[in-house]
Amino acid sequence: MIALEDCIFCKVVRGELPSDKVLETDNLVAFRDIRPQAPVHVLLIPKKHIASIQDVTPEDKELMGDLILAAQKVANDLDISSSGYRIVSNVGHHGQQTVPHLHYHLLGGRQLQWPPG
Ligand code: 5GP
Ligand code: ZN
Repeated sequence: MIALEDCIFCKVVRGELPSDKVLETDNLVAFRDIRPQAPVHVLLIPKKHIASIQDVTPEDKELMGDLILAAQKVANDLDISSSGYRIVSNVGHHGQQTVPHLHYHLLGGRQLQWPPG
């Protein structure tokens, strides 16, 4: 567990850390990844601090749907909806999650490979 004041994505939400935002609503923010792995690499995060998908509860149902709809809107806005894209959320150690604030990676703009490493 980390203190919320130290969480870098909570700092993005509060505007204490600069970010290249592509969408913001009442309950979520989407911003470009600082180390993009594809021409489009956007992170979608809830404003509420949730550590990972493993920590989602039934009260977050609507929020989780809003994140997916926001990902769809960003894909449309950034022109990758017809070429296709990938949405990934890393969880924990084996998932190689490095920031313990739930986020979806939206990746597109090039041919992606499968399976992941
Ligand atoms: P994870 O490894 O947890 O799945 O994804 C964390 C992502 O956050 C990484 O892709 C990393 O490049 C990105 N990231 C880490 N720190 C910052 C930051 O300060 N600003 C932005 N925009 N992205 C960050
Ligand atoms: Zn946080």
